[in-house]
Amino acid sequence: MSTPSIPTLELSNGYQIPQFGFGTYKISAEDCVDTVKYALDLGIRHIDTAQMYHNEAEVGRAIEESGIPREEIFLTTKLNNDKHLPEDARRSFAQSLEDLRTDYVDLFLIHWPLPTLYGGDFVQTWRTLLEFEQQGRARTVGVSNFQIPHLERLLKETGVMPAVNQVEIHPHFANNQLRSFHLEHNILTEAWSPLARGTIFGDEKVISAAKRLGKTPAQVVLRWGIERGDVLFPKSVTPERIKENLDIFDFQLDEQTKADLNSLDKGEDGRTGSHPDTMALL
Ligand code: NAD
Repeated sequence: MSTPSIPTLELSNGYQIPQFGFGTYKISAEDCVDTVKYALDLGIRHIDTAQMYHNEAEVGRAIEESGIPREEIFLTTKLNNDKHLPEDARRSFAQSLEDLRTDYVDLFLIHWPLPTLYGGDFVQTWRTLLEFEQQGRARTVGVSNFQIPHLERLLKETGVMPAVNQVEIHPHFANNQLRSFHLEHNILTEAWSPLARGTIFGDEKVISAAKRLGKTPAQVVLRWGIERGDVLFPKSVTPERIKENLDIFDFQLDEQTKADLNSLDKGEDGRTGSHPDTMALL
């Protein structure tokens, strides 16, 4: 497989983001350096990590050891749930930069809104992230797992909408209402768990679409996300699968496949992760 040309999308502040990247949730510190280096070697230039994943130091090492200039890589990390208070956020952000061996990240996100914690005041957390953007230490700031009322509140109280909202999306949980809101407000949608954490491959419609198109179930599901215009960063530690997941830029879904995959949406029952309104883990 030759290195595919990965499309980039424009963020509301003018920066470019590769539409396809590599996710690192639950990649152990032990596996992380080699796996991220492998992904970079294949031509992936967008890495998604988080303070919560306890692998920022390994991601930083992988980037450094890859020899690829820092400015060619789009690097995202996220504020941990126990670091929402402004002083904690400032300290932990500085630690993230140190661990990642860089003086800026391309994107820094509030990982969860935690509306039942910190007196529900995710607005002060957002203001703190805006400081990092002003300082140029985060080129772009955004949020993750925010619902429409959370986003509306940020706009009302600070006048600034996040450039990005990273939320769960895959054919079992299409999250269409939130995506429409994003479109109206120029918020880029990042789709986490684009493979529904591996739970979607047994679906008959996915299997028959894969056969019809001569692709694998994972490739068909990822292509669905790409064609909807979302940013994706599937996770795997298996080299063959990482390669397979990237090999989705030489085909298109036919109308039948799009209709079949769109019909798999189970609404709230399709979520694989926590609900943002109640998620309260520190
Ligand atoms: P995913 O949907 O990417 O699925 C990953 C699982 O699918 C792997 O564990 C593997 O078992 C399987 N898989 C991957 N490629 C495969 C292939 N080609 N064939 C068969 N099986 C395959 O799930 P994810 O890791 O939860 O999500 C991707 C990334 O999104 C994460 O690594 C992380 O960076 C991000 N994320 C963010 C949040 C958030 O709250 N912001 C939450 C979850 C994930």
